[in-house]
Amino acid sequence: MVESIGDLRIKIMRELIKCSYCGFCEWVCPVLSAMKRRDYGPRGRVNAMLFHLRDGLMGESLKESIYTCLGCGSCSTQCIAGIKPEELIRSFKHYMYLSSTGKSVT
Ligand code: SF4
Ligand code: SF4
Repeated sequence: MVESIGDLRIKIMRELIKCSYCGFCEWVCPVLSAMKRRDYGPRGRVNAMLFHLRDGLMGESLKESIYTCLGCGSCSTQCIAGIKPEELIRSFKHYMYLSSTGKSVT
């Protein structure tokens, strides 16, 4: 089945808007622990993805926030809203790739 970029965007957005920004996911993130900057943690990354998909923002700091995720999945074990940030980050990277190439999702 082929999924459009628009459908992928909606799928990611549906998950992102569940975030209440409680921050419970943050204490387990190894990158946030090392870098001591909120945009290097799962909550910051959820924010960054929303800034891009909803508001069209994409700067170097936003890219750094996304590409410094290790994909360890620790954050997903803590989320009270059932969000899996690492899966969303992976999907978002795929979305960005597709946006830059104009390809569809298979
Ligand atoms: S998957 Fe990414 S955001 Fe989540 S805890 Fe690991 S490094 Fe942090
Ligand atoms: S634990 Fe879930 S709801 Fe809370 S800030 Fe993290 S991703 Fe958002």
